[in-house]
Amino acid sequence: MLSGKTALVTGSTSGIGLGIALALAREGATLVLNGFGDPEPAKAEVAALGGKVGFHGADMSKPEQIADLMAYAEREFGGVDILVNNAGIQHVANIEDFPPEKWDSIIAINLSSAFHTTRLAVPGMRRKNWGRILNIASAHGLVASAQKVAYVAAKHGIVGLTKTVALETATTGVTCNAICPGWVLTPLVQKQIDDRAAREGLAVEKARAELLGEKQPSGEFVTPEQLGGLAVFLCSPAADQVRGVAWNMDGGWVAQ
Ligand code: NAD
Repeated sequence: MLSGKTALVTGSTSGIGLGIALALAREGATLVLNGFGDPEPAKAEVAALGGKVGFHGADMSKPEQIADLMAYAEREFGGVDILVNNAGIQHVANIEDFPPEKWDSIIAINLSSAFHTTRLAVPGMRRKNWGRILNIASAHGLVASAQKVAYVAAKHGIVGLTKTVALETATTGVTCNAICPGWVLTPLVQKQIDDRAAREGLAVEKARAELLGEKQPSGEFVTPEQLGGLAVFLCSPAADQVRGVAWNMDGGWVAQ
């Protein structure tokens, strides 16, 4: 379904980004991967599906490196047809203890990076009159939790960005939507489980069950594969008129 399309997924060396990259590659898209750490395992997994794959290691907190990433995608692959703004980080602390530099980096990576990639991708999408922008927000784009002030602010912000871009592109073949996952067992969440286990003197399995039990009525993690399935749907013709939504896939988290 997506052959001939190029997808850029930011933060796709692990977790949700890699899951979405694999799902898009399975549909025939060419992939541009991005993220920290060794990119080779992720590149190999995507390449094994048969399509082309590129990588650019831009730090998504740096606008000039984001511009370089977008120029790379244009030069090597003819531009970005599917933009998945996924790179993100977390920090957990009460507001009075929240380090200002953590606030700045969370806003830069989880929110401002999507402004920069989107402003640079939209002109090419308008020219082709086709494009898909998928912003990976969170259940925390719709509701808050204590001790996550920067993350919740950034994720609510990206839902607002999504709606605005959807309105500006509403009469074109470009759509912009947000995906709002609940808990997904990735390195970002494993760190929160490990911290809870250490803080409360719990076994890791108990800490994992408590974390899920607090927020996610299903008691089960959402998987990167399930999120990949939703991303593929949002790229399909059936989703041509899905515009500006913040679609939660969260085991019932925000239904409460
Ligand atoms: P993860 O830590 O597995 O992956 C994050 C990715 O972003 C990695 O590839 C990492 O290298 C990359 N990254 C981090 N900082 C970067 C930077 N400055 N520049 C470029 N790349 C950078 O985390 P994840 O859980 O897969 O999270 C992916 C997205 O999903 C994030 O936006 C996160 O907020 C969101 N999310 C996660 C969950 C969850 O439960 N895991 C729930 C809701 C939303």
